[in-house]
Amino acid sequence: MKVLIVGSGGREHAIAYCVAKSSKVDEIYCTPGNAGIAEYAVCEPIGPMEFDKITAFAKEKKIDLVIVGMDDPLVGGLVDELEAAGIRAFGPKKNAAILEGSKAFSKDLMKKYHIPTAAYENFDDADEAIHYLETEAKFPIVLKADGLALGKGVLICNTLEEAKEGVKTIMLDKKFGASGNTMVIEEFMTGREVSVLSFVDGNTIRTMTSAQDHKRAGDGDTGLNTGGMGTFSPSPFYTREVEEFCEKYIYQATVDAMKAEGRPFKGVIFFGLMLTEDGPKVLEYNARFGDPEAQVVLPRMKNDIIEVVEACIDGTLDQIDLQFEDNAAVCVVLASDGYPLAYEKGLPIHGLDEFKKHEGYYCFHAGTKFDGDQIVTSGGRVLGITAKGKDLKEARANAYAATEWVSFDNKYMRHDIGKAIDEA
Ligand code: ATP
Repeated sequence: MKVLIVGSGGREHAIAYCVAKSSKVDEIYCTPGNAGIAEYAVCEPIGPMEFDKITAFAKEKKIDLVIVGMDDPLVGGLVDELEAAGIRAFGPKKNAAILEGSKAFSKDLMKKYHIPTAAYENFDDADEAIHYLETEAKFPIVLKADGLALGKGVLICNTLEEAKEGVKTIMLDKKFGASGNTMVIEEFMTGREVSVLSFVDGNTIRTMTSAQDHKRAGDGDTGLNTGGMGTFSPSPFYTREVEEFCEKYIYQATVDAMKAEGRPFKGVIFFGLMLTEDGPKVLEYNARFGDPEAQVVLPRMKNDIIEVVEACIDGTLDQIDLQFEDNAAVCVVLASDGYPLAYEKGLPIHGLDEFKKHEGYYCFHAGTKFDGDQIVTSGGRVLGITAKGKDLKEARANAYAATEWVSFDNKYMRHDIGKAIDEA
């Protein structure tokens, strides 16, 4: 079988790693890919939103299955285009990817189907939003641009003044473009965050092992929000009790709600959960694997990823017994100093071969490319160093030890990924 993966980050590298392990796969392609993915796949420089080119490329190469890793092409309808051209594709269609593409939609869905989430109001008029903030809001409060905003469209405001400024930023100055035409104003919740990824075939849902991300750039959760600076899996706070609650009120309820709305979801649903005093609540949905959650979840998956993906497409996921190793994994992201703002690119990376010598250690490339024969940095998040261990503490020690194998100028990482493990 010939498989094409769409995307270029650490998540797509982790997907490519699993695809390469499948006994069903003969050839792998990736658009556009990166220097790490190139170990498994033929990388073609086509952008993720160049739907016509991706479709033509898939036809030309006689691709049997396309796996779309990224949110933008899913929300934009790449799966619809591929299917219209007769190409099998894994991921939600446009009318289902709206679960991630519009926070106002997802909030209304949760309200309608009684899925636990923070109280909220949607606004498409800035004056009305400000009136609400002046008359009814309690602080702190959370403002969210409706559409995709690279994880940066969420503002937590402590005062009325900050919130008014936030409305201006999102709705009037349009910092996130059309994503800010509508805005969600949401109750501020407190609690631990847990990410649960799942495979969905339109009817059946199979959840994967849990994970936790670290979004802020600096140690101690300080600094700016980023795409994610590291993850660990499983989360010790995702207890059997929490899982049972989510199974009863959140997971299947979401799949059933999407079906009832005429938007059957096939692909990966990422549940961003907050474990509040009143029980688990949904913070957000994503319509694809998390990055860097995939980098700790997929290496622990025992199943052949192609079998699971095909079951999602064919509607036979009920026949799949999803299994994960009884161990732990930690991923520490190596970034370029300055990320998520300005940073240098094109810096040579050394030490990558070391990972070939050690079982249970992975170097997932995010922002890398070839400069001749040399692999150089090409993005803010450069590499995700994942290591397994018999438990979280061992996995963390292994991951941090492996971060030392790699060097490049301006290498930056957080030193407290998985600190919560000590509090469990
Ligand atoms: P990404 O795409 O990177 O996952 P996003 O832009 O979709 O992020 P959310 O996940 O909804 O945004 O929110 C980002 C972060 O903001 C959450 O991980 C959480 O830490 C915080 N947050 C969001 N909503 C709330 C809330 N109601 N109460 C408290 N914190 C919140």
